[in-house]
Amino acid sequence: MARNDHDSWDITDSVGATALGVAMARAAESVCDCPLFTDRYAQFFVDAAIQRGWDSSAIASQVPIVKDYAAVRTKWFDEYFIAAGANGIDQVVILAAGLDARPWRLPWVSGSAVFEIDQPQVLAFKADTLAARGARSTARYQAVPIDLRADWPKALREAGFDPSTPTAWSAEGLLPYLSATGQDLLFERIVALSANGSRIAVEALGPTALDPDYLEQGRQYLRGVQGDADAANVHDLMFMEKRTDLRPWLTERGWAVTVIEALSLMQRYDRPPDHALKDVAPRNVFIEGRLHTARR
Ligand code: SAM
Repeated sequence: MARNDHDSWDITDSVGATALGVAMARAAESVCDCPLFTDRYAQFFVDAAIQRGWDSSAIASQVPIVKDYAAVRTKWFDEYFIAAGANGIDQVVILAAGLDARPWRLPWVSGSAVFEIDQPQVLAFKADTLAARGARSTARYQAVPIDLRADWPKALREAGFDPSTPTAWSAEGLLPYLSATGQDLLFERIVALSANGSRIAVEALGPTALDPDYLEQGRQYLRGVQGDADAANVHDLMFMEKRTDLRPWLTERGWAVTVIEALSLMQRYDRPPDHALKDVAPRNVFIEGRLHTARR
């Protein structure tokens, strides 16, 4: 389904179903022999969507391609949040939270406030599923159901967010679903809401992620796996546009930035892509920023 500036979705439609794809990958990781993490909620979400009549087959066929990448990515963001908490940050904003279960599964520092932003129907599905399972957040949890192209800073403040308190922000699996201008606005707003001491963790497109040959190889690989030339391709939901390079952009605004390429991270966790996936593995980068303006 083609994207437009005002589209919205439920958990089983359009961009919403990508959150189910990530949940499937996390569920698979959680039951493998040596998991990088255990997310016992991920399978609950998949089961609840199937009970609603969701046909999981198209996404299920893609899970083996992204499982290791999604596991490594999840681990990197888990560690980011744990380190932020250990360094005294007790306010967290998870942008495009989808079916990320961190507010229920991470060992948050006592009293931490965790805000999750995503589309209203996505967060409603998540809340219903967790309530049916009797899940309890390990933090002070606050859902902020709103489109990230709308005035989410206002909604976030109304939900209790305090811009004078250092915040740990995350954007995982989000940026390609925003246009390039939408991405710019997102980061302008984050910076405007970030007190000194704030941190940010971002999964972003790497410099060669839009290379046409690479994208075509990915399409062909997917067709081979799915055996259906018309099968859903997640790239059709993305805005394949050149983006602002976040490393200099954040640096110019006072953030100390470190960047690691997806491939290096996969090697760090001993999960390099299989030989068959080497040429189609995500060409993303993981960016961590820390805002420390000089004190006098
Ligand atoms: N970050 C989550 C994770 O890693 O499990 C979800 C990733 S999923 C690939 C993408 C998520 O981005 C979906 O939950 C979708 O609803 C959300 N999303 C994308 N564009 C959005 C927008 N404009 N407003 C709110 N949520 C959005």
